[in-house]
Amino acid sequence: MQTPGPRARRSVRVCQDSIVSTFTVINPATEQAIAEVPSISLAETDAAIEAASRAFETWRLVAPGDRARLLRRFASLVDANLEQLAQLEVANAGHTIGNARWEAGNVRDVLDYYAGAPERHTGLQIPAPGGVNITFREPLGVVGVVVPWNFPMPIAGWGFAPALAAGNTVVLKPAEITPLTAMRLGELALEAGIPEGVFTVLTGKGSVVGWRFVTHEKVAKVCFTGSTEVGTKIMAGCADQIKRVTLELGGKSANVVFADADLELAAARAPYGVFDNAGQDCCARSRILVEASAYDRFMEMLEPAVAGVVVGDPTLEVTEMGPLVSSAQRDVVASYVPDGAPVAFRGSCPDGPGFWFPPTVLAPVSASDRAVTEEIFGPVVVVIPFADEAEAIRIANDTPFGLSGSIWTRDVGRALRTARGIEAGNLSVNSHSSVRYWTPFGGFKQSGIGRELGPDALHAFSEVKNVFLATDA
Ligand code: NAP
Ligand code: MG
Repeated sequence: MQTPGPRARRSVRVCQDSIVSTFTVINPATEQAIAEVPSISLAETDAAIEAASRAFETWRLVAPGDRARLLRRFASLVDANLEQLAQLEVANAGHTIGNARWEAGNVRDVLDYYAGAPERHTGLQIPAPGGVNITFREPLGVVGVVVPWNFPMPIAGWGFAPALAAGNTVVLKPAEITPLTAMRLGELALEAGIPEGVFTVLTGKGSVVGWRFVTHEKVAKVCFTGSTEVGTKIMAGCADQIKRVTLELGGKSANVVFADADLELAAARAPYGVFDNAGQDCCARSRILVEASAYDRFMEMLEPAVAGVVVGDPTLEVTEMGPLVSSAQRDVVASYVPDGAPVAFRGSCPDGPGFWFPPTVLAPVSASDRAVTEEIFGPVVVVIPFADEAEAIRIANDTPFGLSGSIWTRDVGRALRTARGIEAGNLSVNSHSSVRYWTPFGGFKQSGIGRELGPDALHAFSEVKNVFLATDA
């Protein structure tokens, strides 16, 4: 059960004649309050959606080259403010400074990448008898982007950058507990000259602001990243209006290590495939599957690798893992490691204030253990032996999720067979990378619907219109 964090609190203050509800943002590494952010009401959400809908009428008509220039200007302002954005994320989400700089850089790169799109968003000319047939890619209208707390900057950018490039306007709701970077990005968009109403950041509760994106008739599409539980509701809600929806949900990805792999490298990298961002990553390789003949040797090398993960103050350059995002999330994660849990070994973490949890390796585990079947979203990994390639694929697929995964082997044929056999959207061989903005990202099965990033993301933010011109008339 998630409970409110000890210091997360809601307050209501009277501002002139109106009552403003606010949310207190907490630094998860220190538990100190760092900002008071408005909790936007339903009426304010409606007003913002109406404004975005009006802005669409002009934004869609902005010449492609001008739209491209505005997005490039937005990208360069993100670049100029990269350090500030990164520091905000360190303070708000507890991300390590190294990760946070990468994340702000990713927003810049994704904006730059899609800035190339308005001038290349072409249709087709299709041979048809009796005339000329052409297709157009029309924008949808207002797109509602709902962002979770685990990667506040990149996930926002993967939604708003292609949506704006395709000619839509965007209303974006950050997670209530991690709003600060999204708010700053909203300001930078205005500074870049993107007109008022084209990109609006609305801070507030998911059940109020986020759900209004689902129910409001002037929102044409919802782009949601978060839990499978809320994603299920969003998809059902969108069905009422046949509203377009993209879902990026959870994962329980496998890191499959064959005996013929470079075991030393596989063991050295395995902690970073799951403990990066303190395991709060939908692509976390939270099940390590190891070929039985290499199991003991692998575990011997994994132990020092896990002990070597530098957990601590996220503002320091050397730190590799920070705290969990909230006290509630720490309680969730701790529930997967009860007294008597089969802890093989664990790393360290600071005492004192902050929502810390040490990197933890569970083995041996039973196939029905919650830590094996459920997404934990924290620095906890299970290690499971397998007999052969077929069993590795069977275990990897024994989950309702299908987001990512890794395969470690020196055998190219086995790498490809296993990659083709695993039911997941993003696989990497001899590495743990899932996200490259040039390539499509998304899930099989209950990990989601649709793809983000890469050249095809624009299709998710436009409709094909077919126009036939008769020449024989
Ligand atoms: P969540 O509830 O799904 O939240 C994700 C986003 O959806 C937040 O912005 C949230 O707003 C919003 N939201 C919540 N209820 C909504 C509703 N009824 N309608 C529209 N929007 C709504 O996720 P969570 O509770 O923060 O995390 C729970 C678990 O989800 C995690 O432990 C993890 O397992 C999983 N998760 C997965 C991902 C991923 O990337 N796949 C990301 C985050 C979490 P509020 O912030 O106001 O609640
Ligand atoms: Mg929730």
